[in-house]
Amino acid sequence: MQIGFIGLGNMGGPMAANLVAAGHSVAGFDLTAPMPAGVTAAASAAEAATGADVVITMLPNGAILRSVADQVIPAMRKGAVLCDCSTVDVESARAVAAQAAAAGLGALDAPVSGGVGGATAGTLTFMAGGSPAAFETVRPLFDIMGQKAVHCGDAGAGQAAKICNNMILGVTMIATCEAFALADKLGLDRQKMFDVVSTSSGYSWTMNAYCPAPGVGPKSPADNGYKPGFAAELMLKDLNLSQQAATAADADTPMGQLAAELYRRFVEDENGRGMDFSAMLPRFEARGRG
Ligand code: NAD
Repeated sequence: MQIGFIGLGNMGGPMAANLVAAGHSVAGFDLTAPMPAGVTAAASAAEAATGADVVITMLPNGAILRSVADQVIPAMRKGAVLCDCSTVDVESARAVAAQAAAAGLGALDAPVSGGVGGATAGTLTFMAGGSPAAFETVRPLFDIMGQKAVHCGDAGAGQAAKICNNMILGVTMIATCEAFALADKLGLDRQKMFDVVSTSSGYSWTMNAYCPAPGVGPKSPADNGYKPGFAAELMLKDLNLSQQAATAADADTPMGQLAAELYRRFVEDENGRGMDFSAMLPRFEARGRG
């Protein structure tokens, strides 16, 4: 396939490299990031999109996605598919899908889970919203860049799945960290805490696969000075998206709301910017109840 790829940063760069390695022809455009080997550098987003069967975007947020969509949609050939893999608000995803449909294009919102490691290894999970036909067009590319692709429903359903998943992740990380901090104060050894909880009803991905306590459980950012990994500010971004969606949909999400507020304080007031999102554990360790 001829692919246009816009946004070749930490995630987009290795995703595009995997498409090239699988034999696809990729034209890329980014404001700053270098092109991976084998990706043809285009002079603009519109040039990268011209003649492409599929245009993939991997951008920081919904406002940037909307501005890039304004540039690429008029340049795309009828019947091609615009596939956004960024994490953005549900409204931007739906607006871009409607704009693409009006121009005779297919569209998918297909955010990912798996981080930079998954992007590099080609083991991402894609959660996609849009028409079944658009999903089938892009599926072979999902199979190269990832290990699983779920068609979640109509436009916006992929972003809905992503922000619900990450709301659970943020809430669970905080619960795991505060439980470790309480265990410390009760004199419970961290390894014993892990041994019990990881095989009891408190188990979770944050405990079992991404343990926030250094030296306990499988290797995680906690064993590397809490260098990300998944940065606290990206978790804050996703929690803000889930709260924005909850407000728009009139959904009651008190735990998500509190998690967003705790990550906001951590990032903005407590030097959490640039730390992994599991660095909530030293934050709780340093504090008392009052
Ligand atoms: P990044 O900042 O490394 O990459 C974004 C790229 O977009 C940058 O290279 C930037 O120069 C480029 N860009 C910005 N505006 C542009 C424009 N107008 N035209 C062309 N290029 C433009 O970010 P990332 O970590 O690659 O994340 C990308 C998206 O993936 C985000 O929405 C993020 O939430 C999501 N995501 C990230 C991770 C992760 O672990 N990093 C995991 C899952 C999802």
